[in-house]
Amino acid sequence: MTIRHTNFRRATPNPAPAASTWRARGACRDDPDAMFPDGNKEGIAAAKEVCGPCPVRRQCLRDAIETRDTQWGIRAGLTPQERNAVVKEVARRRAKTEAVV
Ligand code: SF4
Repeated sequence: MTIRHTNFRRATPNPAPAASTWRARGACRDDPDAMFPDGNKEGIAAAKEVCGPCPVRRQCLRDAIETRDTQWGIRAGLTPQERNAVVKEVARRRAKTEAVV
């Protein structure tokens, strides 16, 4: 398996065939750089609008949580800060569940 660097700014497995992966179906596939608006409000709002109807939003959010991708860009309609809050909440709930078992 080859590794390529994507505009998600981390190494990801090279999809083969690309169409079989959820990333290839993302609404941002044609302009992934737009998902990294560098903090300007208009760019963030525009990126969030792209994510709104994205057919793979759930997969994207799950991947962001599992990989703790909370540093760069808009993913699943969330800013890094918003994703960080989700990651912390998921960890809190998992810890609570494990404490009960
Ligand atoms: S949810 Fe947003 S960042 Fe994720 S694949 Fe879809 S458009 Fe791209």
